[in-house]
Amino acid sequence: MSKKPVGHKARKRFGQNFLQDQGIIRRIIRSIGPTEAQHLVEIGPGLGAITEELLDSCRRLDVVELDRDLIPILQTKFFSYSDKFTIHQGDALEFDFASFYDGEHQLRVVGNLPYNISTPLIFHLLSFADQIEDMHFMLQKEVVNRLAAKPGDSAYGRLGIMAQYYCHVEPLFLVPPEAFDPAPKVDSAIVRLIPYKELPLVAKDISKLETVVRTAFGQRRKTLRNNLKPLLSADDISELGIDPGLRPERLSLKDFITIADFLSN
Ligand code: SAM
Repeated sequence: MSKKPVGHKARKRFGQNFLQDQGIIRRIIRSIGPTEAQHLVEIGPGLGAITEELLDSCRRLDVVELDRDLIPILQTKFFSYSDKFTIHQGDALEFDFASFYDGEHQLRVVGNLPYNISTPLIFHLLSFADQIEDMHFMLQKEVVNRLAAKPGDSAYGRLGIMAQYYCHVEPLFLVPPEAFDPAPKVDSAIVRLIPYKELPLVAKDISKLETVVRTAFGQRRKTLRNNLKPLLSADDISELGIDPGLRPERLSLKDFITIADFLSN
């Protein structure tokens, strides 16, 4: 069990559930496998549960932490690493991660993410996919299911489609609530996202693809014909070789790109 500094009370509004199970911490570090040449970025280091092990085996570590009260705790705990460790106090949702990129070493992003903002944070990070080598996240199990979902799965939707446009998605292992203090009410899981060096499928205009996917899933239970009415007609959908009577969760990424490219023409 990790030693907790006296005086910091976990804050619910910052999604603070601190990892305390050393076995799980070791397993996460093994999955990440940091090496001496690499530039790591940790989102939400909290009290530093995984930070120290990362610091021991990388070239540089930047952390982004929102909670101002945690900054002096992290500074004290890791003062001897000041040559390679930088703390950035701020909101990861607004952070320009490209500012960390030196043009040479792609970033390895890790984080036991605050569950209340994990989906918008992943969307934000996907916009930096070019600068990122890989990402390892602890997330609510359901979010990992959504990231990895395939057409036809009940968890299939906007998050999985956009993540799979940019990345290979690999769920790694489950983490029970007791691994944290305080224990969350949900199960968690670790996922690895590896941005493609070359995208296997490319949309002409990524913002069109985002619009099509968001609009198609406007109401999950409705058909494409209904959901996509504001963008194109049922006849247009048919002409693209896609059945307008389908529900959105039946479509592959390729189908969504076909529709988006039609709208880009
Ligand atoms: N990494 C630590 C661990 O595993 O024990 C803490 C994980 S805790 C689930 C999430 C952390 O993210 C907290 O330290 C919290 O203060 C921080 N956080 C919450 N919202 C944030 C945001 N928008 N930007 C950066 N950090 C944030």
